[in-house]
Amino acid sequence: TSTTVPEAPEDPLFSVMVAFRNDSSEKKIDLSIGAYRDNQEKVWILPVVKKATATTAMSPDYNHEYLPIIGLARFIKAAQRVCLGNSSDVIKDNRITSLQTISGTGALHLGALFLSKFYRPDGSNNTPTVYMSSPTWSNHPQIFKLAGLPTATYRYFNASTRSLDFDGMLTDLAAAPPKSIILLHACAHNPTGIDPNPRQWEQIATIMAERHHFAFFDSAYQGFASGSLDRDAIALRLFASYGLEMCIAQSFAKNCGIYGQRVGCFHFITSPATEADTLETVTRIGSQLTALQRACISNPPAYGAHVVSLILNTPDLFEEWEEDLRVMSGRIMHMRQQLRIKLEALGTPGSWHHITEQIGMFSYTGLTTDQCLQMREMHIYMPLNGRISMAGLNLKNLDYFVKSMDRVVRE
Ligand code: PMP
Repeated sequence: TSTTVPEAPEDPLFSVMVAFRNDSSEKKIDLSIGAYRDNQEKVWILPVVKKATATTAMSPDYNHEYLPIIGLARFIKAAQRVCLGNSSDVIKDNRITSLQTISGTGALHLGALFLSKFYRPDGSNNTPTVYMSSPTWSNHPQIFKLAGLPTATYRYFNASTRSLDFDGMLTDLAAAPPKSIILLHACAHNPTGIDPNPRQWEQIATIMAERHHFAFFDSAYQGFASGSLDRDAIALRLFASYGLEMCIAQSFAKNCGIYGQRVGCFHFITSPATEADTLETVTRIGSQLTALQRACISNPPAYGAHVVSLILNTPDLFEEWEEDLRVMSGRIMHMRQQLRIKLEALGTPGSWHHITEQIGMFSYTGLTTDQCLQMREMHIYMPLNGRISMAGLNLKNLDYFVKSMDRVVRE
């Protein structure tokens, strides 16, 4: 094998990062990173995370024992309330089974494996297709394919209007075979930054219910997008209220700034319409998820889960977390406004309202591949699809970025 293994294609973001690192210019800007930076371009450790890690539980006496296979129970319970709300019927009715995972990626993996093994909607042996938005996070198709699930796309982004292709999306969801798996971004769609509005989510849920599709939500930015955990969960809670069978891959990487600790959760929610006894159903599903988790990772990592659990389960810390979320999302929204105002003030050709209409970590600027390459000559590093990480912009580098963007758009 050692002589026959072909080289894997490089992740396009990786080469952007290397090029940035090798650039010695003082003007250089990294807009490829998917992690929050403050106005001084610094990593921002959330003050609430600092407080949580300073408690005795995280002292040198912290014990490094294994967690149970499913993870830390009090973290899991609190994570359910974060995505579904404190008064959720799903939780009250015990229609949910959840496991702690290796952040959002691990939750997507576990869900993909479970569906690949057990989701047989037409009673045959055929594995159903997973439909994902075009475009989507580049890891999505890789994760689902690795689990053996065929993938396809539904329309999502209208490049000419730089907005949601809502008609295209609904048409494609309606045309997908009944009971297909539909991957949805709960909020702050990556890479476009464009989310359906609440009315559009209702229409999506209606079509999903009519077609008996299975909703697989990826929730990687709750609270980070709008600053409100509740607002960023409207799609999750709406679908749950429709009584649809669904699952959620939940990440605490961005909203707690705890990326490397790999804190996440996978939730499987059963429908109230399921005829079988609810408790028996979730127990059965939970047992299979546990068996899969055992074979994949044995036990999830403990430290980050303890930190997040402390935040979620301590009212004062929870409030402080919400404040930190407002700081991060507020800075990003301010950058969006300033970027748009400055482009409009320069009279940069084109319309720029999409910059402030988009939400979350990323913005699809609309710059072409050629324009992105020209930006690179000016020491500005972004992937060639024109996506910028808003967190890479700050009050120091914004003017230079705007001037450069103006120049490449006019050329
Ligand atoms: N889903 C989306 C849409 C993402 O952007 C990311 C992070 N880039 C993830 C999931 C997973 O992140 P993590 O595994 O770090 O939680």
